Amino acid sequence: MQKVVLASGNPGKLKEFKQMLGGVGFDVVPQTDYSFDEAVENGLSFIENAIIKARHACQHTGLPAIADDSGLVVDALNGQPGIYSSRFAGEKATDSDNNEKLLNSLTGFVTTERSAHFHCTLVFIRHAEDPEPIICQDQWHGHILHQASGENGFGYDPLFYVPEHDCASAELSKEAKNKISHRGKAMRQLLAILEQQA
Ligand code: IMP
Repeated sequence: MQKVVLASGNPGKLKEFKQMLGGVGFDVVPQTDYSFDEAVENGLSFIENAIIKARHACQHTGLPAIADDSGLVVDALNGQPGIYSSRFAGEKATDSDNNEKLLNSLTGFVTTERSAHFHCTLVFIRHAEDPEPIICQDQWHGHILHQASGENGFGYDPLFYVPEHDCASAELSKEAKNKISHRGKAMRQLLAILEQQA
């Protein structure tokens, strides 16, 4: 098994990446197993930040690295909250603070003006100077509801309307969400590329 470091300390993400990449010969370890400061995410796009995080983890561990960057892009808000999704309502904002700010920002917008999508960028970098990172990106399109619904998932799931199932993302099971979500689709792209190269 080839060790690969995940540029995140999120246990949920670690589990998903371990399951996915275990089958193609990778042992995914979290960057929190090593002691170094987190990368400064000063890019202006998902792809820039994902590359910054992956390269940083690679530089500090000497291992291949994988990073993901994701968020919600709302058309009426000129792409906000975008790369600032987790801190839309402030540095220490909770999911419910962010959802409240999103609803307030869209006051007066009718359903047809509330189109939005989730975005996910995944980056796999083989070594710190790798000039050809593997980059997989995908989207999940829907719109922002007028009120929250559902208990599953995280982040903006209670406010994201899923046309495929006519419900909020937070009303989907984990499995149903994974089949159609930005992250699920980007992960399957990455898996297919790594399988080809194995
Ligand atoms: P990160 O890439 O895990 O840091 O995610 C950034 C932020 O985007 C999260 O904190 C959520 O606010 C939002 N986000 C990303 N993916 C999802 C999702 O699948 N559902 C709901 N919110 C999400």
